Amino acid sequence: MILFAIGLGLIAFLIWMLFPIAVRSPVEEKPRGFCPLCAHPLMKGERVRSDQTEIGDIEVQTRIKGCQFCMGPTAKRKRSCPVCKKDVKKDEVILALADPRVDRLKLKIKGCKACWPQGF
Ligand SMILES: [Zn+2]
Ligand SMILES: [Zn+2]
Repeated sequence: MILFAIGLGLIAFLIWMLFPIAVRSPVEEKPRGFCPLCAHPLMKGERVRSDQTEIGDIEVQTRIKGCQFCMGPTAKRKRSCPVCKKDVKKDEVILALADPRVDRLKLKIKGCKACWPQGF
């Protein structure tokens, strides 16, 4: 009976411990965007890694490699193409294009090797 009471107290304590963490953490900061590959919310300072190549002055091609949560040897997040929803391997990229005459930061995601092979 005493053991039962201790067990009950322990569970109540655990619930009490879990609750404030679960409620508090998402309030702190809103994500600034999402990784186009793994959809992980990105906070301030967490950036998507990419390479930009200028093709003449009519096109800026961006190879999006992913974010810190889906890149590197420890990352386990599933990466998929936002256009065709197929899996994208860790060493593969997706392509996005921007028109530097309009806005070179305004990227139009074209797709991965499977659904937009002409860009590779
Ligand atoms: Zn990512
Ligand atoms: Zn694709």
